[in-house]
Amino acid sequence: MTPTTDVDVLIVGSGFSGLGMAIRLKQEGFSDFTILERADDVGGTWQANTYPGCACDVPSHLYSFSFAPNPGWSQTYSRQPEIWDYLRDTARTYDVLRYVRFGHTVTGAEWDEDTARWKVETDRGSFTARVFIPAMGPLAEPKKPEVPGLDSFEGAVFHSARWDHDHDLTGERVASIGTGASAIQYVPTIQPDVAKLHVFQRTAPWVMPHSNRRITRVERRVYRAFPALQRLTRGAIYSARELLVLGFVKRPKLMNVVEKVARRHMRSQISDPELLRKVTPGYTIGCKRILPSNQWYPALEEPNVELVTDEITEVRPHSVVTADGTEREVDTIILGTGFAVTDMPVARQVRGRDAKLMVDSWGGSPRAHLGVAMHGFPNLFMMLGPNTGLGHNSMVYMIESQMNYVIDALRTMRENGVDTVEVKRETVQAYNDRLDQMHEGTVWTTGCKSWYLDDTGRNATIWPDWTFSFRRRTQRFDPSSYDMRTAPAHEPEQVAA
Ligand SMILES: Cc1cc2nc3c(=O)[nH]c(=O)nc-3n(C[C@H](O)[C@H](O)[C@H](O)COP(=O)(O)OP(=O)(O)OC[C@H]3O[C@@H](n4cnc5c(N)ncnc54)[C@H](O)[C@@H]3O)c2cc1C
Repeated sequence: MTPTTDVDVLIVGSGFSGLGMAIRLKQEGFSDFTILERADDVGGTWQANTYPGCACDVPSHLYSFSFAPNPGWSQTYSRQPEIWDYLRDTARTYDVLRYVRFGHTVTGAEWDEDTARWKVETDRGSFTARVFIPAMGPLAEPKKPEVPGLDSFEGAVFHSARWDHDHDLTGERVASIGTGASAIQYVPTIQPDVAKLHVFQRTAPWVMPHSNRRITRVERRVYRAFPALQRLTRGAIYSARELLVLGFVKRPKLMNVVEKVARRHMRSQISDPELLRKVTPGYTIGCKRILPSNQWYPALEEPNVELVTDEITEVRPHSVVTADGTEREVDTIILGTGFAVTDMPVARQVRGRDAKLMVDSWGGSPRAHLGVAMHGFPNLFMMLGPNTGLGHNSMVYMIESQMNYVIDALRTMRENGVDTVEVKRETVQAYNDRLDQMHEGTVWTTGCKSWYLDDTGRNATIWPDWTFSFRRRTQRFDPSSYDMRTAPAHEPEQVAA
């Protein structure tokens, strides 16, 4: 039997969230912590997604830690290898690699009320911890489409987030399912190499012109010499993107202006009227994620590409069949079908007080306080939990906001001799009622079906306000929203909030 390892703070995941938390813990003098990571390297999203053309949709000067600027970005919107390198370098610079246990997949976790500790199971042994920080990523679990017969396909099948680089697509007939953020990046990249590419689309995305460009050597030198200038650029990018909240949340009618730009982009790049009809979305821009690309539409016009809008009804050993009865023979199927977001696996793995699974405590829809704390789950701080997603700005900003909050919570516990904190039920309720109100009248309620919505139709994914208001709310831990106790084994006494 493998022995149980006891640590003070246990983080799961080594993407931006897990690494960022580790860096802050270290800076705050918490040295007894461990990061469990199922992969064999750090980077999270940027380690797992290696598909051709994978890149960030948010400019790099903003999509990076505020405390670790990189004056050397080579493009305004970085590609995956560069972001992955940045995260590995940052982990090395802040000396947190030695805290990571690679190749450890967490399979379950349970709060033990008697010892006031989390017991966390992995495929390589058990861990106990006072504080548990799942930073397992909202977009980390590939979602497989429910298509009859998919398992019977005899060619290669892989998800965009698990790209099979040993498989050569040259000269193949390929089916690509999905037209979301990943597909619009890899389709144009693989199109020149394949013999035939059938792109299966359920809903057309709104696509905007992409402004990516190389960052010149002079600019890089200037950023190195004057870090304040890079901070200024970061601030300007942040502010410009934040303006989109006006259209997303405050006045969806303002999105008409953005829609006009997208329509012009579409018309300028597509000459075939039938294709134009197929790629024109039938919902308000912004209701689903807006995607930037200058290559997507031209790729769809290439003679070896077919955009199929009929629903897939069946996959056979060598073909894909659609509702109109057409059967297309293919060698490989690529699933560009996104991730399990509202049905994240962690919710079925973690049991809180009373051995209740997270998913059961949610009552049908993911709910947390500030996307980080849940009633019934003492000393658990989840990174990028419910309603922290953004359609317009950098997720790293949200991560850093939550990092502030968690660190302040741990500091408060330490300074007041508190062993457990548990957010009050009424706090979570009131916070989520308010979120639901805030969602009313936003662009996300204008009638599209998106991965932002859970099975009940509730938007449990998006933060429906300015991101600086999230930053303000997470700047400090709010003790009055929590029940704070010393451990039952010591003194079962309530500590004044
Ligand atoms: C292709 C792609 C493009 C994106 N582009 C953008 C963008 O342009 N702008 C933006 O703001 N955001 C973007 N995102 C969102 C992105 O996920 C976040 O910005 C950010 O990287 C999330 O960091 P994280 O550390 O919270 O999660 P992740 O980076 O997903 O890291 C989670 C880590 O947890 C590990 N893990 C998960 N489950 C377990 C387990 N059971 N046991 C052990 N380890 C586990 C995973 O292996 C992973 O390393 C993109 C996401 C994807 C997939």
